[in-house]
Amino acid sequence: MSPHASVLTLDEVSIEFGGITALDGVTFDVRAGQICGLIGPNGAGKTTLFNCITRIYQPSGGRITWKGDDLLKVRPHALASAGIARTFQNLALFGGMTVFENTMAGGSSVKGGKRQMRDRAWALIERLELVDVADHHAAGLPFGTLKRVELARALMSEPQLLLLDEPAGGLTHSEVKELGDLIVSLRDEFGFAALLVEHHMGLVLGISDHVVALDFGHKIFEGTPAEVKDNPAVVAAYLGRAA
Ligand code: ATP
Repeated sequence: MSPHASVLTLDEVSIEFGGITALDGVTFDVRAGQICGLIGPNGAGKTTLFNCITRIYQPSGGRITWKGDDLLKVRPHALASAGIARTFQNLALFGGMTVFENTMAGGSSVKGGKRQMRDRAWALIERLELVDVADHHAAGLPFGTLKRVELARALMSEPQLLLLDEPAGGLTHSEVKELGDLIVSLRDEFGFAALLVEHHMGLVLGISDHVVALDFGHKIFEGTPAEVKDNPAVVAAYLGRAA
C-alpha cells in the first residue's frame, strides 16, 4: 500500500444521543503510516468518534470505510483481525494475569499458531523493555509500565491502525516525552497508522503528522500541527470552554 493512501475514511459521520448531537457530519481521512491527532475541548465528541470506529456505537448517519470496505459492517470482535487495535484511557489489562499473558491476550482473535504467538509476544516484550516484569502480575506495576504493556498487547494483532485513547493520561512530564518517542519509533518500525485522542497538546503537536479538531460534534479544523496553534476556531473553542 502506498504510504500516503487513505486507510480510514470518515464521511459525514453523525450520531445523536437523545437531544444531543454528539457528532455532526464529521469527515476526514487517516492515511497509511500517519499519526493523526484528534483534539477538542471536553464534550467535543472525540470519545464518541472513537466508539463509532471501534463499533461500540452505530452512527446514525454517514459512512466509515476501512481500506475501502464498510467498517460499519465489521463486528466489534472482528476489529483486531481486520487490522485495527486500540489502547484504553483507563487501561484494560487483566490485573491477575502476568505481563506476558496480557500481551498474549492481544493475539487471541488473530490467526496463527501458539508458537508464533509466543514468539511475537516475546519480541514485543523485548522491544517494549518489559523483559524484567514479563512474569509479574499487571496489578501493582507502575502506571508507565502498564502503558507499555497495553501497547504490547495492542501490537500483538499486527494492526495497520492503532487507536490511542488519551495515552498521556496519568503520566509525568518525562514519561509523556518517552511515550511520544516510543509511539513514533514503533510507528516507524511497524508502519501502522495511528489515531491519537489526547488532551496533552505537547504530545499531540509533537508527534502528529496531521491534526483534526472537533467542537460540539463539528470538525472545526484539520491541518498540520504547526497550523493548529494559531487557528482562530481552535483557540476560540478552547478559550470558550475555559470561560
Ligand atoms: P472528553 O474530552 O471530556 O472525554 P469528548 O470530546 O470525548 O470529551 P464525548 O465523550 O464524545 O466528548 O461526548 C460528546 C457529547 O456526547 C457530550 O455532550 C456527551 O455528553 C454526549 N455523549 C457521549 N456519549 C453519550 C451517551 N452514551 N449517552 C448520552 N450522551 C452521550
